[in-house]
Amino acid sequence: MPNLFEYREYIYYCPKCGNFHFITYGSDGLCLICKTNMLETPHDYNLTQHNWMHLPNEEWKQNEQRLFDEVISKSPEFDINLYNSKDSILKQRQQQQEEAIAHGQAILEGRDKGNQFGVECPYCHAANVKKITTASKAVHTAFFGIFSLGRNSKQWHCNHCNSDF
Ligand SMILES: [Zn+2]
Ligand SMILES: [Zn+2]
Repeated sequence: MPNLFEYREYIYYCPKCGNFHFITYGSDGLCLICKTNMLETPHDYNLTQHNWMHLPNEEWKQNEQRLFDEVISKSPEFDINLYNSKDSILKQRQQQQEEAIAHGQAILEGRDKGNQFGVECPYCHAANVKKITTASKAVHTAFFGIFSLGRNSKQWHCNHCNSDF
Protein backbone atom coordinates (compact mmCIF):
# COMPACT_ATOMS: atom_id res chain seq x y z
CA MET A 1 0.00 0.00 0.00
CA PRO A 2 1.48 3.36 -1.02
CA ASN A 3 2.00 6.03 1.58
CA LEU A 4 -0.97 8.33 1.11
CA PHE A 5 0.58 11.43 2.63
CA GLU A 6 4.27 11.48 2.04
CA TYR A 7 5.63 14.90 2.99
CA ARG A 8 8.25 16.43 0.76
CA GLU A 9 10.86 18.94 1.74
CA TYR A 10 10.47 21.11 -1.36
CA ILE A 11 7.04 22.03 -2.54
CA TYR A 12 5.86 20.43 -5.78
CA TYR A 13 4.21 22.45 -8.48
CA CYS A 14 1.95 21.57 -11.35
CA PRO A 15 3.34 22.90 -14.65
CA LYS A 16 -0.17 22.95 -16.16
CA CYS A 17 -2.37 24.72 -13.60
CA GLY A 18 0.22 26.15 -11.19
CA ASN A 19 -1.14 24.27 -8.18
CA PHE A 20 1.23 23.50 -5.27
CA HIS A 21 1.40 20.44 -3.02
CA PHE A 22 3.65 19.57 -0.14
CA ILE A 23 2.19 16.12 0.01
CA THR A 24 1.82 13.41 -2.56
CA TYR A 25 -1.53 11.79 -2.89
CA GLY A 26 -0.80 8.13 -3.29
CA SER A 27 2.26 7.05 -5.22
CA ASP A 28 1.07 8.71 -8.43
CA GLY A 29 2.27 12.21 -7.51
CA LEU A 30 -0.39 13.75 -9.73
CA CYS A 31 -1.91 17.19 -9.42
CA LEU A 32 -5.16 17.14 -7.43
CA ILE A 33 -6.69 19.56 -9.90
CA CYS A 34 -5.66 18.46 -13.37
CA LYS A 35 -3.88 15.09 -12.83
CA THR A 36 -0.67 16.35 -14.36
CA ASN A 37 2.66 15.06 -13.05
CA MET A 38 3.83 17.34 -10.27
CA LEU A 39 7.43 18.59 -10.42
CA GLU A 40 9.75 19.50 -7.59
CA THR A 41 10.42 23.24 -7.46
CA PRO A 42 14.02 24.16 -8.27
CA HIS A 43 15.86 24.45 -4.97
CA ASP A 44 17.06 28.02 -5.48
CA TYR A 45 13.48 29.30 -4.99
CA ASN A 46 13.68 28.12 -1.38
CA LEU A 47 10.13 26.85 -1.40
CA THR A 48 10.66 24.36 1.39
CA GLN A 49 8.32 23.24 4.14
CA HIS A 50 10.56 24.90 6.68
CA ASN A 51 10.40 28.26 4.89
CA TRP A 52 6.68 27.95 4.43
CA MET A 53 6.29 27.76 8.19
CA HIS A 54 9.00 30.27 9.14
CA LEU A 55 9.53 32.85 6.43
CA PRO A 56 7.72 36.16 6.52
CA ASN A 57 4.75 35.81 4.24
CA GLU A 58 6.10 38.42 1.83
CA GLU A 59 9.31 36.57 1.13
CA TRP A 60 7.46 33.34 0.44
CA LYS A 61 5.07 35.15 -1.87
CA GLN A 62 7.94 36.74 -3.79
CA ASN A 63 9.61 33.38 -4.27
CA GLU A 64 6.35 31.87 -5.41
CA GLN A 65 5.76 34.74 -7.83
CA ARG A 66 9.29 34.38 -9.19
CA LEU A 67 8.74 30.68 -9.73
CA PHE A 68 5.49 31.43 -11.51
CA ASP A 69 7.04 34.11 -13.76
CA GLU A 70 10.21 32.23 -14.56
CA VAL A 71 9.13 28.60 -14.57
CA ILE A 72 5.42 27.79 -14.41
CA SER A 73 4.12 30.37 -16.88
CA LYS A 74 6.85 29.36 -19.35
CA SER A 75 6.26 25.63 -19.19
CA PRO A 76 4.84 24.20 -22.44
CA GLU A 77 1.85 22.61 -20.64
CA PHE A 78 0.85 25.80 -18.86
CA ASP A 79 -2.87 26.51 -19.21
CA ILE A 80 -3.83 30.05 -18.13
CA ASN A 81 -7.56 29.23 -17.93
CA LEU A 82 -6.91 26.31 -15.64
CA TYR A 83 -4.57 28.49 -13.60
CA ASN A 84 -7.24 31.13 -13.14
CA SER A 85 -9.91 28.64 -12.10
CA LYS A 86 -7.70 26.41 -9.95
CA ASP A 87 -8.90 27.85 -6.65
CA SER A 88 -12.55 27.18 -7.35
CA ILE A 89 -11.71 23.70 -8.70
CA LEU A 90 -9.71 22.97 -5.58
CA LYS A 91 -12.57 24.09 -3.39
CA GLN A 92 -14.89 21.79 -5.32
CA ARG A 93 -12.48 18.86 -4.97
CA GLN A 94 -12.18 19.44 -1.24
CA GLN A 95 -15.94 19.52 -0.92
CA GLN A 96 -16.25 16.25 -2.85
CA GLN A 97 -13.60 14.73 -0.61
CA GLU A 98 -15.40 15.87 2.51
CA GLU A 99 -18.65 14.45 1.20
CA ALA A 100 -16.95 11.15 0.41
CA ILE A 101 -15.50 11.05 3.92
CA ALA A 102 -18.89 11.92 5.43
CA HIS A 103 -20.48 9.17 3.35
CA GLY A 104 -17.84 6.67 4.52
CA GLN A 105 -18.48 7.76 8.09
CA ALA A 106 -22.22 7.26 7.60
CA ILE A 107 -21.62 3.71 6.37
CA LEU A 108 -19.36 3.02 9.36
CA GLU A 109 -21.95 4.33 11.76
CA GLY A 110 -24.78 2.59 9.97
CA ARG A 111 -26.48 5.83 9.00
CA ASP A 112 -26.64 4.71 5.37
CA LYS A 113 -29.85 2.74 5.92
CA GLY A 114 -31.94 5.60 4.62
CA ASN A 115 -32.50 7.57 7.78
CA GLN A 116 -30.37 9.49 10.21
CA PHE A 117 -30.48 6.72 12.83
CA GLY A 118 -29.15 3.84 10.73
CA VAL A 119 -32.10 1.72 11.79
CA GLU A 120 -34.58 -0.19 9.73
CA CYS A 121 -37.77 -1.93 10.72
CA PRO A 122 -37.04 -5.62 11.41
CA TYR A 123 -40.52 -6.58 10.15
CA CYS A 124 -40.95 -4.71 6.88
CA HIS A 125 -37.41 -3.33 6.46
CA ALA A 126 -38.67 0.20 5.94
CA ALA A 127 -36.31 3.04 6.80
CA ASN A 128 -39.26 5.24 7.69
CA VAL A 129 -38.87 4.85 11.43
CA LYS A 130 -38.96 7.25 14.32
CA LYS A 131 -37.45 7.12 17.74
CA ILE A 132 -39.99 6.68 20.51
CA THR A 133 -39.13 9.64 22.65
CA THR A 134 -39.37 9.76 26.41
CA ALA A 135 -42.15 12.31 26.05
CA SER A 136 -44.21 10.07 23.78
CA LYS A 137 -43.58 7.16 26.15
CA ALA A 138 -44.86 9.24 29.04
CA VAL A 139 -47.95 10.25 27.07
CA HIS A 140 -48.51 6.64 26.06
CA THR A 141 -48.27 5.46 29.68
CA ALA A 142 -50.66 8.20 30.77
CA PHE A 143 -53.25 7.16 28.17
CA PHE A 144 -52.95 3.41 28.21
CA GLY A 145 -51.88 2.81 31.76
CA ILE A 146 -49.28 0.68 33.36
CA PHE A 147 -50.30 -2.46 31.40
CA SER A 148 -49.07 -1.01 28.20
CA LEU A 149 -45.61 -0.47 29.63
CA GLY A 150 -44.36 -3.26 27.41
CA ARG A 151 -44.30 -0.73 24.67
CA ASN A 152 -41.86 1.35 26.62
CA SER A 153 -39.06 -1.15 26.23
CA LYS A 154 -39.23 -0.56 22.49
CA GLN A 155 -37.16 2.24 21.12
CA TRP A 156 -38.40 2.58 17.57
CA HIS A 157 -41.69 2.92 15.79
CA CYS A 158 -42.09 1.96 12.13
CA ASN A 159 -44.28 4.44 10.29
CA HIS A 160 -44.74 1.96 7.48
CA CYS A 161 -46.18 -1.11 9.25
CA ASN A 162 -46.80 0.57 12.62
CA SER A 163 -44.82 -1.94 14.62
CA ASP A 164 -42.60 -1.02 17.54
CA PHE A 165 -39.26 -2.63 18.03
ZN1 LIG B 1 -2.52 20.87 -12.11
ZN1 LIG C 1 -42.20 -1.84 9.49
